[in-house]
Amino acid sequence: MTEETRLIHSGLAQTPLARTVGPPIQRGSTVLLPNAAALYDHESQVTYGRQGLAAQSALIEALAELEHAAGVTLYPSGLAALTGALLAVLKTGDEVMVVDTVYKPTRRFCDTVLRRFGVGVRYYPASLDAAALMEACGPATRLIVLESPGSLSFEFQDVPAIAAAARARGMLTLIDNTWAAGLLFKPLDHGVDISVQALTKYVGGHSDVFMGSVAVREDSLVRTLDDGVLNIGWAVSPDDAYQMLRGLRTLATRMSRHDASGRRIATWLAGRDEVGQVLHPALPDAPGGEIWRRDYSGACGLFAFTLAPGRPKATEAFLDALEIFGLGFSWGGFESLAIDCDPQLSGRGAPSDYGGPLVRLHVGLEDPEDLMADLDRGFAAWRAAS
Ligand SMILES: *Cc1c(COP(=O)(O)O)cnc(C)c1O
Repeated sequence: MTEETRLIHSGLAQTPLARTVGPPIQRGSTVLLPNAAALYDHESQVTYGRQGLAAQSALIEALAELEHAAGVTLYPSGLAALTGALLAVLKTGDEVMVVDTVYKPTRRFCDTVLRRFGVGVRYYPASLDAAALMEACGPATRLIVLESPGSLSFEFQDVPAIAAAARARGMLTLIDNTWAAGLLFKPLDHGVDISVQALTKYVGGHSDVFMGSVAVREDSLVRTLDDGVLNIGWAVSPDDAYQMLRGLRTLATRMSRHDASGRRIATWLAGRDEVGQVLHPALPDAPGGEIWRRDYSGACGLFAFTLAPGRPKATEAFLDALEIFGLGFSWGGFESLAIDCDPQLSGRGAPSDYGGPLVRLHVGLEDPEDLMADLDRGFAAWRAAS
C-alpha cells in the first residue's frame, strides 16, 4: 500500500474496546458488515449509523427501564418527539383531541401541519373529566393528547381514568410527560399508550442538549414508532445520547433537591402579600393536588404563581430586578429561571384568567435561601412599580 492508502486505513476502530463505565461514544454513519450476506440482513444487526450505535442503544435501554416501556424512540428535540409520535399514529381523516393547555409549539404543529394533511384537530379543557371527554369525542377520534400538568398553569388531568376510557373505545392516548421527567409519574403503568418527554429538560439537566423520547406500552406500537423514525429520517448524535445518559445518572438526586427547594419557595410565596395564588400541587388546596398526591411520587422545580394585580409594568419590574433567576424559556437545568406567562396564554381556545399576572419559576439547584432573597429583590421592585 502506498502512503495515500495507508493514511486512509490506519487508526480505524479497534476491537475489542476497553470496558469503561459508560458506553463508548461510537461515531459512525457507515457500519462495516462482516460479509456480503450481512449487508442486507437489517433484522439481525445495525447496518447503518442512523439507526443508532452504542450510546444511543444504551440510552434507549435506560429510558425503557425508566418509563416501564416496551420500546423507546429518540428524536433530536422534545418537539420532534411529539410531532414524530403524532405523524406515526395519525392519518388523513383521523381526528385528534388535544388538551387546551398543551405546550404551544405542539398546538402550532397540530393547527398547521396536521390540518394541512387532513387530520381534524379539536381542543378540550384540561378540567374535562373522562366521561365528558369521551362524550366530546367523535367517530373519527383516533388519539387523545394529554399534558399533565400544563407547563404554564399546572392543571392536572385524571390520566388513568382518561386512558382507561379511551382504551375501552379503541382510541389511543399520548401524554407530554416532561414535567415528571419519566421519574415522578409513570404514564404507561397508568394505561397511557404513548409517553413523550423533552429530555432537553430534566434528563439532560444542564440546559445544553436537545433531545426527545417516545416510550410506548405495547409491542404493536413499537414497530409503528420505529417505522415513523425510519420513514422521516430522525437521528441523534452519539455525543448527545451520551450527555443524556450522563444526565440520567443524577436525575433522581437532582430531582429531590428541585422538589424540596420548590416546595419551600412555593410555601414562602403563598405567605407573601404581593402574591395571589401559588400553582404548586403540594400546597394545601392547590388545584390538582388530589390527583398529584394519588399518581405522582413527587414534584419537580417548575411551578407558577400570580402577582397581585398591579400596573402592567410591575411584572416587568419584578422580573428585571432578579439577579439569580435568569429570564429565559426552557427549564429542568441546574439553574433557576423565571418568565412571565401571560403573552403565551392568549393562544388558547378558552381565555384563562388566573386573577393576576402569571409568573412561572424554575427552581434550580442553588441554595433556596439565596433564591428567596432574589425574589425579595423582585418584590421590592414590584412594590415600587405598582
Ligand atoms: C420544552 C418542552 C418541549 C419541547 O422540547 P424541546 O426539546 O425544546 O423541543 C415539549 N413539551 C414541554 C412541556 C416542554 O416544556
